[in-house]
Amino acid sequence: MKQFKGHLATLAEQGMLRTLREIESAQGPRVRIDGTDHLLLCSNNYLGLANHPVLIEASCRAAKDFGAGSGASRLISGSMSLHHRLEERIAAFKSTESALVFNSGYAANNGIIQGLLGPEDTIFSDSLNHASIIDGCRLSGARTCVYPHNDVQALAELMAKEQSTRKGRWLIVTDGVFSMDGDIAPLPELVSLKERFDAWLMVDDAHGGGVLGEHGRGTAEHFNCLDKIDLQMGTFGKAFGSFGAYLAATRVVIDTLINRSRSFIFSTSLPPAVLAANLAAIDLVASEEGERRRTQLKANRELFSSILSGAGFDLCGSSTQIVPVLIGEPEPTMHAASQLFQQGIFLSGIRPPTVAPGTCRLRATLMADHTPTELRQAAQAIVHVVKRGLAGE
Ligand SMILES: *Cc1c(COP(=O)(O)O)cnc(C)c1O
Repeated sequence: MKQFKGHLATLAEQGMLRTLREIESAQGPRVRIDGTDHLLLCSNNYLGLANHPVLIEASCRAAKDFGAGSGASRLISGSMSLHHRLEERIAAFKSTESALVFNSGYAANNGIIQGLLGPEDTIFSDSLNHASIIDGCRLSGARTCVYPHNDVQALAELMAKEQSTRKGRWLIVTDGVFSMDGDIAPLPELVSLKERFDAWLMVDDAHGGGVLGEHGRGTAEHFNCLDKIDLQMGTFGKAFGSFGAYLAATRVVIDTLINRSRSFIFSTSLPPAVLAANLAAIDLVASEEGERRRTQLKANRELFSSILSGAGFDLCGSSTQIVPVLIGEPEPTMHAASQLFQQGIFLSGIRPPTVAPGTCRLRATLMADHTPTELRQAAQAIVHVVKRGLAGE
């Protein structure tokens, strides 16, 4: 205990201690914190579905009809009709043979990579991939080669070099939209590499699903290459406004995971209310309302990022609803975040180890139902606070 206390004290001294903030209202473009109203600029509820009446109604009805819990893991007695309906719906949405629901994106990435690859295999992983992918690679025991972020040329050279000693299966794995930079993976180039080297391609579309592509089918739809991605992983906790995750793939892959994926096998399955919300969310995303919300989100992004880039800030190559503002060192970053919070603007300051040292940033995530006025004021407040901080005032 004494060691832990010392460790926590050290973190606090370094300005690196992480603590929780209590949100006292439902998730929306504004939330109540400490009894006061704040503009929320750090939620992944991109389309505003987390508090949508259609999802709430679907959840309530499913709880009344099927109960609060699923009672067991999928392979015992917890594979309810709603799981099967949701998997059919996901496969149709992604145009794949089959799909499998996981309890969270974290569990999915762990279980998919562990379930499909072993020590004799090789994984090529983008240097900015999500922690759950990194942990999945470790769990699998496969040899993991990390390639520089979005650098297709470097990846091609790495694969060519590995080719001579190749054994086992090869997997290229990438986020679709990167969570800290807001940039998009070059999927068409990755598809040609995976074809050239006879590898699988896995895309984690936690931040692209619902948002990118004409019908919200994600990064692969954005590039018109849905049928080229072997393993399409996505989550329901972000743009879909609910909770849980999935893999869309061939029947053989899904059957293999049902038999081998530890995070799938050894965990109680998602409850009815969550499954019903996910089903309603896919319908909403695919509907005209979904399209309207995507259009609004894009307009919000243009407005917000043009003010910040116009003021000369480095937005880390973002081209999505995730808008980072590069600051550099932890202290000014956290100071700016806390000043903005005092002004009623809640966004996150991001430090190592989440990002590389020297690239600390304010990170804003936008929603379809933020108003232009709210975003204009917030962007101007960010410009003001950061410029004053950099001037040492
Ligand atoms: C959020 C996220 C996950 C984890 O998904 P959860 O459902 O929140 O566990 C996985 N991958 C990426 C890229 C994410 O952003």
